[in-house]
Amino acid sequence: MYTGIGASAGIGIGSAVIVKEPSLAYDNKKVSDTTAEKARLQTALDACIEKTQAMAEDMKTRVGEKEAEILEGHVLLLMDPEMTGQMESNIENDGMCAEASVEQVCNFYMEMFAGIEDEMFQQRATDVCDIKTRLLKILLDVEDVDLASVPEGTILVAEDLTPSMTAGINPKNVAGILTEVGGKTSHSAILARALEIPAVLSIPGITEKISNGDSIILDGSDGQVFVSPDEKLLAEYEGKRAEYLEEKAALAQFIGKDTVTADGVKVELCANIGKPEDALKVVECDGEGIGLFRTEFLFMDRPQVPTEDEQFEAYKKVAETLKGKPVIIRTLDIGGDKEIPYLGLEKEENPFLGFRAIRLCLSRDDLYRPQLRALLRASAYGDIRIMVPMVTCVDEVRAVKKMIEEIKAELKEEDIPYDENIKVGIMVETPAASLMADVLAKEADFFSIGTNDLTGYTMAVDRGNADVAYLYSAYNPAVLRSIERVIKAGRAEGIMVGMCGEAAADPLLAPLLLSFGLNEFSVSATSILATRKGISLWTKEEADAVAHKAMSMATEAEIEAYLKTVAK
Ligand code: PEP
Ligand code: MG
Repeated sequence: MYTGIGASAGIGIGSAVIVKEPSLAYDNKKVSDTTAEKARLQTALDACIEKTQAMAEDMKTRVGEKEAEILEGHVLLLMDPEMTGQMESNIENDGMCAEASVEQVCNFYMEMFAGIEDEMFQQRATDVCDIKTRLLKILLDVEDVDLASVPEGTILVAEDLTPSMTAGINPKNVAGILTEVGGKTSHSAILARALEIPAVLSIPGITEKISNGDSIILDGSDGQVFVSPDEKLLAEYEGKRAEYLEEKAALAQFIGKDTVTADGVKVELCANIGKPEDALKVVECDGEGIGLFRTEFLFMDRPQVPTEDEQFEAYKKVAETLKGKPVIIRTLDIGGDKEIPYLGLEKEENPFLGFRAIRLCLSRDDLYRPQLRALLRASAYGDIRIMVPMVTCVDEVRAVKKMIEEIKAELKEEDIPYDENIKVGIMVETPAASLMADVLAKEADFFSIGTNDLTGYTMAVDRGNADVAYLYSAYNPAVLRSIERVIKAGRAEGIMVGMCGEAAADPLLAPLLLSFGLNEFSVSATSILATRKGISLWTKEEADAVAHKAMSMATEAEIEAYLKTVAK
């Protein structure tokens, strides 16, 4: 068994077809007739542009606009006067042949892009490599690998799957994709997902380890690959594949639909993200916005605090990806179980009850002001809303709002655009905030209930401690009462109340949350459609009846058992 990166969900079962690029060796000799050689280059460039445009058109109709943009980007690169000018001057000044000139210029750009530690530039390097191969093929009159005519049930095994190769794939015949390179956000992954072909990427040497015709199973969710499976394993995965396809078909009918109850009560269904790149997945999964961007991940796995500009770019990228849909960005929530070593914070006896989140930020202007400034600057590019974590009292909200007003004045002075009416909301995840919800609702523009922490703090339980973990449950009547209180207090004041803790995706809790009046559910991107389906199964009246009964019960076990009996 091999394990790679599960980049496109689903089970692929079939026979391996190893895709090897043909040799692109050429005779690297000097040319004397540079005019003729430049004309040869231009003919190849024109042919390549035409071919790429045709592939983009085909991709647009077969797959989608967004995926075609990758190939349209290639056309722009092929028409870039800087790049083609360098190719011409190599021929003109150094007598290079067209092949050598294309190779030299493309390699230069590939190295330059690859040297920048940013996924977008890494991807650009792959794009240039793809263009180089296509141009060389045209110059050398080498046929493209024809992926359109592979037999049904093919598992493509390649070193990498370039956008131009993927464009030729017929998803009816390709049951799966395996590559040696590429990650979840590489173009090959995006295209595999768009074509709904299960894919596992990044298994070094896989084209050598597998032979043509080998029987293969791949699981595009967990990245597992089995070669020559026995009957038992094959039967098991055939079952899994049937289950996956059934589930997918059932959920597909919810794509592009509003999130509504059976009797038409509309709620918002958003997603939680940790990195700017995750925003794309939310769009792909039909999320209606971002309900929680945990910005602390921008601060982790690096040696120093990200600068205001770096943060601005990250927030702007998410806002732009969501194209005007709401994006709730939570300010730094560090401490507790989330550590940032370079901040040099003291070890605490009780980190969950200590110097974390907004408590830390309000005492660290150097940390907090740049973040708020970056958020305000990015608010000019979409519907960004600021969310304050771990609030326990009104003073904290007022202090943040005061700081935001000061920064707005600064930005105005500097002529930097921002959203004057930016909404500032809070996470309700402490018992104190829950008890003060009616008062906090007058100060905050929205609430988002963080059930992960609210459960822990309400039950006074450390969920890492196995001896008390049994108390950690959102079905506990104490937690449910707290949730009900917060939703009702927020709604009474006319503000939006969302939930971004794990409980938002729990189908058993959906009737209670709907009955209490929750406006927004924020779940992981992959849970969006299942949550939309779960909500659609209840009428408000049914949900009210279930909530009424559940809230009269005394124990967590009773409530959970009851919710299971009425589950749809
Ligand atoms: C929560 O506490 O429910 C929450 C969403 O925040 P986090 O899980 O990041 O603490
Ligand atoms: Mg929390």
